[in-house]
Amino acid sequence: MGPQGLGITFVTLPLVIRAAAGGPSHWKELKATCGGSKQSPVNIDRRRLQRDSGLGDIVFEGYDQAPPGKWRLVNNGHTVMLSLEGEPASEHIAISGGGLPGRYRALQLHFHWGSPAGNGSEHTLDGHQLPMELHIVHINAKYRTLGEAKGHPSGLAVLGCFFQVSEAPNPNYNTIVSGLRNISHAGQSVDLASTFRLSTLLPRASRLSRYYRYQGSLTTPDCSEAVVWTVFEEPVDISWAQLRAFVNTVYFPASGAVPLKMTNNYRPPQPLHSRKVFASRDATSSRGCPGHLLSPLLLLALLSPLSPSP
Ligand SMILES: [Zn+2]
Repeated sequence: MGPQGLGITFVTLPLVIRAAAGGPSHWKELKATCGGSKQSPVNIDRRRLQRDSGLGDIVFEGYDQAPPGKWRLVNNGHTVMLSLEGEPASEHIAISGGGLPGRYRALQLHFHWGSPAGNGSEHTLDGHQLPMELHIVHINAKYRTLGEAKGHPSGLAVLGCFFQVSEAPNPNYNTIVSGLRNISHAGQSVDLASTFRLSTLLPRASRLSRYYRYQGSLTTPDCSEAVVWTVFEEPVDISWAQLRAFVNTVYFPASGAVPLKMTNNYRPPQPLHSRKVFASRDATSSRGCPGHLLSPLLLLALLSPLSPSP
């Protein structure tokens, strides 16, 4: 390549990157995959779910014990991420069952949130955004690297949890929330005071069999369509003060004189196209009953001589 060619490359590349920095709607200009037909997040329309009785209990391995070693909390410039890798013990934090095509090892977890003015979940429920969303990213145990897993539709499995604001703080989030002040600036990281049981970050154990499932992608570039998504129906409680800690403490990478608070770090819902969102066996139907209760109730209503005529 001659000097002229180099000149052109030098001029155009920063422009492309700047367009990408313009926000999620420009990502497809940087990476074609981001304009694909199986992108995430999506709106979960509860009137259009398809029940799959094969979506039973997820098997959680190592979620119920605090592993030895340290967990590192990082401000990676896009989100707050807790790295679960690096310790031999992380080999034993895994999920399987629940219709997942294999066993998946936990890699990291991170959050998406809004601003003082608005909610910031990535998935939406019947068109509504929730205050915050947790993602726990797992890699199919048959792949050795993230790069390898990204090349397969079932290479990764992500668990998504919605948050709702409660009066009382959620003590299970204290370790993460108190670590935020040490990672205000992009690139900073802190070793958490202690590891903890990952299960404590999830909805109540009795509600973990209620979830939505669909085939999608990573929600940041390169948007690889390699994710089996599980989004739990029951939100996790968090107080205003805890939520504000995310919105107010952490900053995006400095690009100008004024540091910008890390807010609205979510991608909006992408078109579902030909995909379906499945409801697990126990997920609540749009009529407000767990699926396995619906049929007998309906049957009773139909058989009852007291049921009102149409
Ligand atoms: Zn995420």
